[in-house]
Amino acid sequence: MAMRFENGIVVTLEKENRVLWDATVVVEGERIAAVGYAAAMKQRYPQAEAIDCSGKLILPGFICTHHHFYSTMARGMSIPGDPAANFVEILERLWWKVDRALSEEDITLSAQVPLIECIRNGTTTVIDHHASPGMRDGSLDLIEGAVRQAGIRASLCYEVSDRNIPGGGVAENARFIQKVGRGDGQIAAMMGLHASFTLSDATIEECIGIAKQAGVGCHIHVAEDAADREDSLAKYRVPTVMRLEKLGVAGEQSIFVHCVHIDEAEMDVLAQTHTSVVHNPESNMNNAVGVTPLLKLLKMGVLVGLGTDGMGSDMLVQMRCAYLLHRLASHDPRVAFMEAPQLLLQNNAVIAERQFGLRLGVIAEGRPADLAIIDYQPPTPLNEANFLGHLIFGLVDATVDTTVCRGKILMKDKQVMSLDEERIARRSRELAPKMWKRLQEL
Ligand SMILES: [Zn+2]
Repeated sequence: MAMRFENGIVVTLEKENRVLWDATVVVEGERIAAVGYAAAMKQRYPQAEAIDCSGKLILPGFICTHHHFYSTMARGMSIPGDPAANFVEILERLWWKVDRALSEEDITLSAQVPLIECIRNGTTTVIDHHASPGMRDGSLDLIEGAVRQAGIRASLCYEVSDRNIPGGGVAENARFIQKVGRGDGQIAAMMGLHASFTLSDATIEECIGIAKQAGVGCHIHVAEDAADREDSLAKYRVPTVMRLEKLGVAGEQSIFVHCVHIDEAEMDVLAQTHTSVVHNPESNMNNAVGVTPLLKLLKMGVLVGLGTDGMGSDMLVQMRCAYLLHRLASHDPRVAFMEAPQLLLQNNAVIAERQFGLRLGVIAEGRPADLAIIDYQPPTPLNEANFLGHLIFGLVDATVDTTVCRGKILMKDKQVMSLDEERIARRSRELAPKMWKRLQEL
């Protein structure tokens, strides 16, 4: 049965963005059937179920192009000894122990918790990067199950690395890519690679062979810290992007996450190979690794999207963080006002289209019905010309009331409907201390 999400302010984010007051989005099946003024839509679709959106703003569901669901249970955990003093220590003392300590049920729960947070924040599409060397085989199926139950879309991969055993994770990745193929619009697969400094040429070549045969891209951390660049220069005499490009990792379907420590020649390679970069400002600030040369990358024609790197699932907060970071880093209050929203609203949709084969991120007839419906009473006039001002200074602090993905209501009146939030959090609180204890013994 069709639904009319009516009487809201609809922001279409088409090429020529339209802001329509007293407007309605009609959803039929998994698609948007029509967009227009409320009275006209009511006349055209009188039988559709009406969902009142007055006092609310309707946007396309948000997209996160780099996430780590598995990081959930590290929240609030303490690490004995002195605080990690640099990025490699953060990996060795925190993340490379968290991933090994995860049990089967931990993997499901640590996906379900951020999936709930995605729904709460109107994030309807995620490109995730998973690692659990202690419980590797079948781990992507557990996450797939959680994603399908939650009702959002996700592209999944397993992080291949030689850091525990040579080629660790290749088989799980290959199995899942084979199973998912080109995806069904809800679940897609990529070849996941950790980072240049934990991968041999032989392992990367094996992964590229599998990815190319299946027609999927690679999802890899690149030059997040200076250590990755130094490692590549020392071992291979070329910087990270050059090494990866030579091995065949770059390309239109691939995602190079971070790219903090790269030079102009590497940026040129990213542009020439149409490789996507994903910027994660909160994570970079949290790990104190440096500032991605975002404005320069964009100027050189590189497609840059926005992710959370597991820091959270709220994409508007991440967008504002990018806006603030690049103003401060550039010592220039004229920059990033257009660019930070561009990463989230336009570029993430292009990156997602390369994974899912669907044009997301737009409210238009025939497009997938993914919506974030936000409580927002504009205190000043709101139109196409000043929408970004409302986005950065108002909507970022507003609450998502209703989330729709694939034409299904996943949250209504702030009640998550597809997952039992209270039970999942309670069980996660029971299991997290056990995971922490196992981790201390690693
Ligand atoms: Zn990451």
